[in-house]
Amino acid sequence: MSIHATSFETLELENVARSFGGQNALRDLNLSIRSGEFIALLGPSGCGKSTALNCLAGLLPLTGGRILMDGKQIDQLPPEKRGFGMVFQNYALFPHLSVEKNIAFGLEMRNVPKAEIKQRVAEAIELVQLGPHASKLPGQMSGGQQQRVAIARAVVLRPPLVLMDEPLSNLDAKLRLEMRTEIRRLHQSLGLTTLYVTHDQEEALSLADRLVVLRLGEVQQVGTPRELHEHPVNWHVADFMGYRNLLEGVVERVHGGAVTVSVLGTAVTGSAKDLLRAGDAVKVGLRPEDFDIAPAGTVADGLASITATVEVVEYQGREFAVEARADDGQALHVRTSRHVEPGQRVTLTASHDRVLVFPAELAGARTAEELEGAVL
Ligand code: ATP
Repeated sequence: MSIHATSFETLELENVARSFGGQNALRDLNLSIRSGEFIALLGPSGCGKSTALNCLAGLLPLTGGRILMDGKQIDQLPPEKRGFGMVFQNYALFPHLSVEKNIAFGLEMRNVPKAEIKQRVAEAIELVQLGPHASKLPGQMSGGQQQRVAIARAVVLRPPLVLMDEPLSNLDAKLRLEMRTEIRRLHQSLGLTTLYVTHDQEEALSLADRLVVLRLGEVQQVGTPRELHEHPVNWHVADFMGYRNLLEGVVERVHGGAVTVSVLGTAVTGSAKDLLRAGDAVKVGLRPEDFDIAPAGTVADGLASITATVEVVEYQGREFAVEARADDGQALHVRTSRHVEPGQRVTLTASHDRVLVFPAELAGARTAEELEGAVL
């Protein structure tokens, strides 16, 4: 196949930083990308994801740090010299050029021989299954089809790295799922190296080999989906990994790796990686699927248990998403196959190893001035 990525062995980001008028949008990003990897940058709006991507692409100069490709510094090179493929949320296609011409554009700019352009474009169109639409203009196609053109336009250049900035966020839910599979298929079959920006944890977990979770311009954790899902380093990462219940509490006592926390008027025991002491403010993380739900009063020895009232029950295929309210007003999210009714008093239990206890304060948290203007 002629569309196959050109390659490198490692791409190193060393303390990459970018500030705007003295405000840090990104600081000390350290990441080693191996050829063939699919890496997702994940975080809430304003955390610096697009800034990181644009620094890599060469669209934004760094204000600190270096980028090295196989040991050679590339952060001074203009975007066209880096030759990375870019796919944006808004497709960024030329509206007056046909699908074929949009895809051929980059090859023409590089003075690739005409016959080769023809062959590579045909192959790219085939890859993204747009054969019948080759001579249409972007405006005559759906959002999903336009994004396929944008992807074809990026991969036809055989880029060493493809950068994708929330490419699916303008598409409806069903199409997003289809395109997700498509992107992973192309990544694998073409041997691409991909850096993908998203705020959608499900998308990141399903696509990436490794995730980089950012908050306020700082890396919180880098790891495989499984590592982050099972061992989030702090409550911010836990929040992104589906720990929808993050309950405020105070440490009562610590015994080995187990920590007993006073939360919602009851004592809940969980595990903690950080050093905690009695009296510390903490957040207790629990995933909706890790709660067991039973009629109130059920005695569950050795389990963390909370009494609550069911408010909303939503049928979601095989399971129910239940929203319950603890007696102090705290909302609790539960996923269960058990049938419960709104208004019912229930006891929620979870086994200790499913309960994670984190310091309430995030390490490296910014000062109030730094937080000003930042969107969490
Ligand atoms: P989103 O998902 O909303 O696009 P993001 O995680 O991609 O968010 P960035 O766009 O990288 O976040 O922005 C990070 C921070 O840098 C934000 O606080 C933003 O306001 C700031 N910022 C980004 N671009 C500029 C700019 N050109 N001038 C000044 N501040 C900027």
